[in-house]
Parts: sequence; structure tokens; C-alpha cells
Amino acid sequence: MGRPKRRQLGQNFLIDPQVIQRIATLTKPNPPRVLEIGPGRGALTGVLLERFDRVLALEVDAGLIPSLETNFAGTALEVRSSDALKEPLDPLLEAEKPWQVAANLPYSVGTAILRRLLPRHDLITRIVVMLQAEVVDRLVAEPSGSGHGLLALERAAYAEASVAFDVPPAAFRPQPKVHSTVTVIDLKPPEFSEEELKSAFHLASHGLNRARKTLPNALKPLMDLDQIERSGLDPGDRPGTLDLADWVRLAQVVKIREPQ
Ligand code: SAM
Repeated sequence: MGRPKRRQLGQNFLIDPQVIQRIATLTKPNPPRVLEIGPGRGALTGVLLERFDRVLALEVDAGLIPSLETNFAGTALEVRSSDALKEPLDPLLEAEKPWQVAANLPYSVGTAILRRLLPRHDLITRIVVMLQAEVVDRLVAEPSGSGHGLLALERAAYAEASVAFDVPPAAFRPQPKVHSTVTVIDLKPPEFSEEELKSAFHLASHGLNRARKTLPNALKPLMDLDQIERSGLDPGDRPGTLDLADWVRLAQVVKIREPQ
């Protein structure tokens, strides 16, 4: 495979055995099944096989699959040639649920893959994942904090997340240009309905694009001053200071005024 394609697929392979072990030990003994996304050359896969009864791995680069199958022949590994951005999760995971997920996610699509997994507490209990450090900062950010945005609101809706440890570029080959962080994400049933969350995320993505403005200006034309006041929030607030419950309160007012 040529260099541009490898870069596009985020193929920075882990070579530091301590880092690989530390990622694996963040998984729990139960459930004893793990979905690995992007096994690559199997650096993490081998350690996962020591801990789990079943390892199901999705790899988009078909060129890597024959050596994975050869190297792990006779083990509990099942590898699928599959794009984790598109593979339907229900047929894959439903019959044997629940699962854990472990992955060193490619930088290019890591956030998008994580966003697919976050709402699936019905299928997945824990996600142990390495991502670009800056993405993990945004994932765990709190209102008013730096990097707080839609990703942090989605995490607040669906999961508890904590930072486990940072990983320098030297732990990979080829070395990436950025630092990485491992995070542990425990999924939970959301406190709000899917409809409430959808409306809240819609308002938040609009408002957070105008984060320096006060709420009435940031939320134009979706909400007016009167509606913001009725939500109980201070119209002098700025979008970056609002937490998930605040966005849901705003969304509830819009719904009362403009039933769909
Ligand atoms: N797990 C290996 C390791 O730690 O050395 C490889 C990690 S590497 C950062 C990311 C892996 O994800 C690559 O093997 C890449 O081909 C694969 N990948 C990239 N995009 C993917 C996608 N959409 N679905 C499944 N795998 C993907």
C-alpha cells in the first residue's frame, strides 16, 4: 500500500509493549467479548486475546487481513474486512451483547467512529480507546472549559469518560505528528429522550458555532429572547458555558412554541 493511503487510514502502529499492555488492562474481565476496531498488524489484538474469550476485529485495509489470520490462526480471533464507519452495529453485536470495545483509532476517522459507538449502551459497556490527545481533551471537557463543544455534550449524554494516560509519538511506527491519549468511556442509558437530545444537539451545534456571542445572538434564528428567558437561562450567558441539561431546557421551550 502506498504512503498516501496509509496516512489516510491512520496507520500508525503501536510498537511499545508497555503501552499495549496498559491499554488492555483498562478493559474489564466482563463482559468477556471485545470488539477491536482497526487491528492493523495485531499489536493490541494479541494482548486482547490473552484476556478475552472472543475478539471480533474490524479492519478496513483488506491487505492486512491475511497476515492477521495467519498469525492468530486457531485463536479466538475473528477478523472482518469492514469499515467501522459503515458496518451496521446491530447485526454485528446484538446476538452476543454486551461487548467491550478496545481500539487504537485512526486519527482521520477516530471521532466519527466514536460518535457512532457513544449512543450504544444497549450493545457496549466500556470503550477503551486511544485517540489524538486534542480529541480526548474535547471529549472530557466541561462547560466553560477549553475545548468544550458538541463532542463533550454527546459524551455527557451517553457516557462517563476519564483520561487514562498520554502516549508520545515514539510509541508508534511510523511516528505520528501529534500526541495521543488513552481514554476509558463507560456507556450509560441517557437521562433524556432521543428526541430531546436530538433537538438539544441541533441547538448546541448552531450556538457553539457562535460561541462568543450571548445566547440571543448565538441562537438566532432558532430562538428569540423571549424563548430564552422562558427557559430560565440568563440571556447574558454564552453558549460555551451551557451544560447538557441547559441545552435540553432550551430545546424544550422551542418544542412547546413550535410543535412539529
Ligand atoms: N491496532 C493497531 C495498533 O495499535 O498497532 C493499528 C492501529 S492504526 C492507528 C489504525 C488501524 O485502523 C489501521 O490498521 C487502519 O487500517 C484501520 N482503520 C482505519 N480506518 C478504519 C475504518 N474506517 N474501519 C476499520 N478500520 C480502520
